[in-house]
Amino acid sequence: MIDLGALAKITKAFKVIDNDKSTNRLSHAYLIVCQDAENLEGYMRYFAKQLLCSESVPCESCRHCSLINSNAHQDVFFYPTSEKGILTEDINAIISESYVRPIESEKKVFVLSNAQTMNAVTQNKLLKTLEEPPKNVYILIGTTSEQAILPTVKSRVKKVEISPFSKTVLINALIDQCKDREKLENAVACSDGTLGKTLALYQDQNLKNVIDLGIEILTKMQSSKDVLEYSTKIIKNKTDLDQFFDVLDMLLRDTLVKECGDQSLITNPNALNQLQNANFKNGALISIISAVTDARKRKQFNANQNMLIEWLLFKILEEKFRWQKL
Ligand SMILES: [Zn+2]
Repeated sequence: MIDLGALAKITKAFKVIDNDKSTNRLSHAYLIVCQDAENLEGYMRYFAKQLLCSESVPCESCRHCSLINSNAHQDVFFYPTSEKGILTEDINAIISESYVRPIESEKKVFVLSNAQTMNAVTQNKLLKTLEEPPKNVYILIGTTSEQAILPTVKSRVKKVEISPFSKTVLINALIDQCKDREKLENAVACSDGTLGKTLALYQDQNLKNVIDLGIEILTKMQSSKDVLEYSTKIIKNKTDLDQFFDVLDMLLRDTLVKECGDQSLITNPNALNQLQNANFKNGALISIISAVTDARKRKQFNANQNMLIEWLLFKILEEKFRWQKL
């Protein structure tokens, strides 16, 4: 089992709430912004324990922590309750429940995960409670997208973040569960710094193939004939283009960092080793990284995938040789 608490307690969100709790200045509502959709609810549960446990770091063994862990705390309510996300009737239930005195503790805690699923009507309904919260009521609102939350709601809550984790933090958190070190490093290097994406990539059998393909393209592609061959291969193998872009980004950035950056920021030393003879000048690396960003945008606008890949591969070739001649 991954210790989500160990990650949660190094986040900015934890530190802000910890400081508010120890100075008796808890906000009645927090907006927790976290990219990791898979684990958002787990983090939210941890913050609920943080509010109620008498220790500053949830002890996991007191009555409050145990009851919250087993979904049986009478003063802690989790939403959404259905697959449909948070609905207006959930907010109605929160409003009426918020006027009932807490039973187990002095606080009543409402935990709303996936708040990005709330439509404007539902959010406006919630706003009334946020404006005049009953005493001892605390609302934790977790969202994967800050943009999905109305400005009026945001102005009534304290925003805290769960930022992406560093490579070292993720490897340490996952090493017991993910035994294949090379696979884990590949996954961490191509992830967005969240536990959810790292685990998904670790389980993705294709990631290694895409990395190998990226390395081959950067080291062996020499001519327009090669461009056509590789683009055909990418299309034929139904390579996930977003993953291909992530991999190119990782390989190019690591190469750039190796040349002129803080070596501890290299994400995938293994793959980098295999790029030793690729011979890209720094200027070429920078141009190609920006071309990958362009390619992502074009893909979003439904560009023809065949043409998009060819365009990007030609760009890689062109920039590589142009900068070598300078
Ligand atoms: Zn506790």
